[in-house]
Amino acid sequence: MPKEDQTKDLIKQINGYHALINRSGELISHFTQSGVITYISPASLSLLGYETNELLGKSILDYCHPHDRPLVEDSFKAITKHIVDKDRLSFRILRKEGDYIWLESTFLLIDSEELFCISRDVTEQKVLEQELKANQEKYQLLVDNLQYTVGIITLSGIWLYINDAGKRLFGTIRSEDIIGKSFIDSFHEKERNRIQDCMKRSLLNLSASLNEATIVRQDHQTKQVELKFIPTMYKEKKTYQVIIRDITERKKIEEKLQQAEKLSVVGQLAAGIAHEIRNPLTAIKGFTQLVKEHYTDEYLSVVLSELERIETIITDLLVLAKPQVEFIQKVDIREIIESSIKLFHSHAILSDCEFITNINFSQQYVEGEADQLKQVFINLIKNSTEAMPNGGKIIINANVKDDFVQIQFKDQGVGIPEDRLPKLGEPFYSTKEKGTGLGLMICNRIIKNHNGSLQIESKVNEGTTVTIQLPKVV
Ligand code: ADP
Ligand code: MG
Repeated sequence: MPKEDQTKDLIKQINGYHALINRSGELISHFTQSGVITYISPASLSLLGYETNELLGKSILDYCHPHDRPLVEDSFKAITKHIVDKDRLSFRILRKEGDYIWLESTFLLIDSEELFCISRDVTEQKVLEQELKANQEKYQLLVDNLQYTVGIITLSGIWLYINDAGKRLFGTIRSEDIIGKSFIDSFHEKERNRIQDCMKRSLLNLSASLNEATIVRQDHQTKQVELKFIPTMYKEKKTYQVIIRDITERKKIEEKLQQAEKLSVVGQLAAGIAHEIRNPLTAIKGFTQLVKEHYTDEYLSVVLSELERIETIITDLLVLAKPQVEFIQKVDIREIIESSIKLFHSHAILSDCEFITNINFSQQYVEGEADQLKQVFINLIKNSTEAMPNGGKIIINANVKDDFVQIQFKDQGVGIPEDRLPKLGEPFYSTKEKGTGLGLMICNRIIKNHNGSLQIESKVNEGTTVTIQLPKVV
């Protein structure tokens, strides 16, 4: 066949073949050896968003992502120089809209002139791959830099992976010291069964709780840790992910805190006792003064009863520390109020304080310990007298309100600035030279133990009102 006819025949063949592809929806294109586009299928066009005439005669390289251009160029060279007869590669190509999509293309030489290319849109897959890779990298970075130990162990308890923090915890910097070794052997003998139980339970999803354990290192140092096992797949095998937190320091601090707390309670009590003894001493001092001037049995018996009070306070050092009301009894609230006020009789005369008592019920009982309640009332009255160095009225109101007995102590003293109110009841908060700042704390505690409430309202230079509510006995 003459050359001309051969060419015509070939063109006819190609046209027929193009007609076939045009209908097939395949992503097919042809290029010259230098990459100029000579044919592009309709499916490719619609994917890329161009018109035929926009692409024909242009170089494919101009549409490749700059990063991928050398790859495509190399591939063309390899094929045209017959180093390979076909090549498959993934690269990004620019769409008319301005974004890139990923193609996986196979190039092959169909004659000495032309390259044939069939492609697949793999954008979605690539994006997913990239996301996965980025996530994996992030995750790895996170795990490597964690303060916690993260590791993977087989179901039979052999280390497969451990992060840097983990190596440090087990006292090494080399992975070889750990990977391939037994996990359970690092723990205290007595704890091994318990840890293995915990591992098995985690498989059944029974307990997600943290377990405390002790690591005994090669260098005989021990570490207190918290453990958590999470069943995971690692390299397509069922494994445990183990998270270990070093709590050695925390444990030490907790112990110290406990000790400090004990000491502070002892200290608070000692100061509190001194404070509580000073109240009756004030009364004794006043009454002794009165006895000296004018002897009566009544004054002496008050002195004696106050001395007894001191005795009980001293011998019963623990009354304040004990959380519960000890001798639960029905106590007559009127009697407690009146006997508390009586103690200030001498003080009132000396400092010009006047007591006004309004008890608006004939008889009312609350449940509790008379001595402790008396202690509260004495504390509050004492605070009121101290707030009025130049004298004034102290009004004590007692009422029944619903299920409560309400007792109010009102004074006309210096008052408490608003910003200080929250501080009241904190131990050692005192504005007095000889104050301990324990009175209100003790009052609060006693009232709370009696299931009651204590509230303080105050206005500077007008006075302070303390309101106590105690459940009444019906
Ligand atoms: P202390 O009496 O040893 O200072 P308290 O706990 O009884 O300790 O009281 C703490 C502080 O609260 C007092 O120092 C005082 O500043 C203030 N305060 C308590 N009661 C009154 C009151 N009735 N009037 C004014 N201030 C008061
Ligand atoms: Mg006080």
